[in-house]
Amino acid sequence: MLIVQKYGGTSVANLERIKKVAEKIINYKKQGHDLVVVVSAMAGETDRLINLAKQITEEPPLRELDLLVSTGEQVSSSLLAITLHSLGFPAKALLGYQIPIYTTNLFTKAKIKDIKVNKIKNELYKGNIVVVAGFQGVTDKGDITTLGRGGSDTTAVALAAALKADLCEIYTDVEGVYTADPRIVSKARKLKKISYEEMLEMASSGAKVLEMRSVELAMIYKVPLVVRSSFSDAEGTLITEEDEEMEKVVVSGITYNRNEARISIYGVPDRPGIAASIFGPIGEKGIIVDMIIQTTHPDGKADITFTVPRTDYKQAVKIIKEVAKKLKAERVEGDEHIAKVSIIGAGMRTHSGVATKMFETLAKHGINIMMISTSEIKISCVIDEKYTELAVRALHEAFNLEEEIPIKEEIIKKVN
Ligand code: ASP
Ligand code: MG
Repeated sequence: MLIVQKYGGTSVANLERIKKVAEKIINYKKQGHDLVVVVSAMAGETDRLINLAKQITEEPPLRELDLLVSTGEQVSSSLLAITLHSLGFPAKALLGYQIPIYTTNLFTKAKIKDIKVNKIKNELYKGNIVVVAGFQGVTDKGDITTLGRGGSDTTAVALAAALKADLCEIYTDVEGVYTADPRIVSKARKLKKISYEEMLEMASSGAKVLEMRSVELAMIYKVPLVVRSSFSDAEGTLITEEDEEMEKVVVSGITYNRNEARISIYGVPDRPGIAASIFGPIGEKGIIVDMIIQTTHPDGKADITFTVPRTDYKQAVKIIKEVAKKLKAERVEGDEHIAKVSIIGAGMRTHSGVATKMFETLAKHGINIMMISTSEIKISCVIDEKYTELAVRALHEAFNLEEEIPIKEEIIKKVN
C-alpha cells in the first residue's frame, strides 16, 4: 500500500519523540508499504516564530512572515529524515517548493492549486521514505507560502489525493474523533467511523482534531482518512463516505466554539439592500460572518444580529457603528462572551424532533438560547459562554452519546 502519514507538532516535539515516530514509520516500511510522511513544526515553534516577527512590528509583511514560519517544518522534516537514516532506513526530506506544491499567492492563507508527484514517486521507487514539510507551498513566481494554521493536515490529504494513496493517516495527540471534547465530557466516546460531511460540520463548528480544509479535500477526492494517536497503537477514527449504519445514528457528536462574538444592530429600515449594506463593508475587510438572524417589526424596522470571529470583533463593531449612522439605525450592541454549541449527525436527515430535544435540554438547565442556526445535519445554538461546559455535558447525556448505538427510538420518532 501507499500510505501518507502526518505527524503533528506534539508528535515531533523533541528528538526522543521524533525517534518514536521514526520507529512507527519503520514498522510500516518493514511490512512492505510505501510511505510519504508529512510533518508539522515541533510543538510551539510556529507560535515562537510568529511572535519573533510581531516583536519587530505588529504587521509584518506577509510574504516575509511565510518565509519565516515555513522554517519550522524545514527543521522537523530534516530531523526526521536524519533520524530514519540513523536507524538504517534511507529517507529524503522535501520542502514544498522542491516537490513542488503550487499554491495561490495569498500569503499565510494560500490554497493548494497543483502538486507535482513525479519527484516523490521517483524517491519511493528508489526505496526511500519520503518526508514532506507540511503547511507550505510555493507560488508560480517562486515565493514560499503557507496554508494557514493547522495546514499540515491539508498538505497530507492533498498529497494523498494527488498520489492516489490507499490511506491517509493523521497522527496526533488524541486517539481519534470523540463524541465530544473528552476534557469536558468524561464519558465522551471515541467514534469508530464518521462521514466526511459530519466531520466537516464538526471541524467547522469547533472540533479541533482536523483542520477544516483537509476534511473538505478528503471529501472531494474521497481520501480514506484515519485520525489516530502517535503515542499508542489504539485504533483511530475512520473518516469515510456515509453509509446506512451512520444514518441510523441521529447525533454523532457535540462541539462548541468559544471563538465568536455577537453583534446586533437594532432598528434598521426594513427594505431591499439593507443586509447588503451591512455585510458588504464587513466582507470587504475579510471578516467572516457565521450566523445571521433578522427580525422584522410591524413598524417597518428590523433588527439584525450576527456573529464574527472574536479576533475581528472590535474591528467589526467599528464598521457596524459607521453603517448604523448612515442607515439611521437605533443602536448597535455586542457581546464577546458567547459560545456556540452544536449537535451533528447524518441521521438528522431522516429523523425529526432532534431540534426540539436540543432546545428542551438547554431549557431544562436554565440555559437561554440567543441564536439558532441549522444545516441538514447540524443544529447550533448560541448561548452565554459561561454555560458552555454545562450545555455540552447535558446534550451528551440527553442524546445518549456515551452508548455505542444511541437508543434513538426512545428519544426521537422516526419520520415515515
Ligand atoms: N506548524 C503549523 C501550525 O502550527 C502547521 C501545522 O501544524 O499543521 O499551524
Ligand atoms: Mg494540527
